Amino acid sequence: MTQVYNFSAGPAMLPHDVLVRAQKEITDWHGAGMSVMEMSHRGKEFISIAEKAEADLRNLMTIPDNYKVLFLQGGASSQFGMIPMNLLRGKTQADYINTGAWSKKAIAEAKRYCDVNIAASTEDSSFTTTPTQADLKLNPGAAYVHYTPNETIGGVEFPYVPETNGVPLVADMSSTILSREIDVSKFALIYAGAQKNIGPAGLTIVIIREDLIGETLPGTPAMFDYKNFSDNDSMYNTPPTYGWYLAGLVFEWLKDKGGIAGMAEINQRKATALYDAIDGSSFYASPVAKDSRSWMNVPFTLVDSELDSVFLAEAKEASLVTLKGHRSVGGMRASIYNAMPEEGVLALVEFMAGFEKRHAK
Ligand code: PMP
Repeated sequence: MTQVYNFSAGPAMLPHDVLVRAQKEITDWHGAGMSVMEMSHRGKEFISIAEKAEADLRNLMTIPDNYKVLFLQGGASSQFGMIPMNLLRGKTQADYINTGAWSKKAIAEAKRYCDVNIAASTEDSSFTTTPTQADLKLNPGAAYVHYTPNETIGGVEFPYVPETNGVPLVADMSSTILSREIDVSKFALIYAGAQKNIGPAGLTIVIIREDLIGETLPGTPAMFDYKNFSDNDSMYNTPPTYGWYLAGLVFEWLKDKGGIAGMAEINQRKATALYDAIDGSSFYASPVAKDSRSWMNVPFTLVDSELDSVFLAEAKEASLVTLKGHRSVGGMRASIYNAMPEEGVLALVEFMAGFEKRHAK
């Protein structure tokens, strides 16, 4: 079978070089005589893998020393509950910015633990915009402010980091982490499921300012207390070892590509090529406001939606797969994470132009 360009929103493409390296090492990691999957997480081989992955991530993102990096399980969805359990710290209110499907899920879960103030919502625009800083009605008594810098389904991305005047800022970076440079010190907590820009599903990364660890709601399960993971180098129980190893290979690959700055340049070029193709044609349309368009998830529609299934079938023939939009939005969505090569985006742009020529009335 020929290699395809996979535009899935997640689990998503992994860098080809990473997969080849993992294949080479799968039965015998560096002469250990066994696979990483078979190693004790407490043995020196795995500890060296774990430490290197963390050091590389710290280096890539310039994570300050007063932040812990945790390698967890449970997906980003577990964080929707863990965040209020760990960050309310005696307070009863939290601010949430509602920009789409993932914000909504985080809000629904937080409501089980605290009073949620919706600091801003873009629901009126069907989640095709982001609020401006001036739109945010922040509550100074909030324990924290939560937002979703990149909404994977709607394809909206904040063009700025909200200013919260000292209230801890929490970001669900599942679909934007490592895609562009950010200043980690502006955030109290960053979390991300791995299956888009980090590695395989099953690993969740949390980057948390140390002083916020250690005070949980009564009844918080041990597995949901950041302190247990922070005190034990993420090995309070058996961590997702193979996912951690693969994430480490992805971090090495990213370093070879010029780090996040280098990757961001490529990502911007990829996104621009695709948005230009959409905007330059009356056959395709983007629902998202220009200042809030995601670099990672690009939803677009065919003006004649009757052609949707033909588009998907012909795209598949051209080895361009998983372009169907989310069921709540319809149309198409091209997720173009770090591992999607620039050639993949250019192949999609070329296909779109050809499809238009063949099918425009
Ligand atoms: N937040 C965002 C922005 C997401 O895109 C996703 C998954 N697509 C989630 C949260 C949920 O992640 P998980 O499936 O790892 O729980």
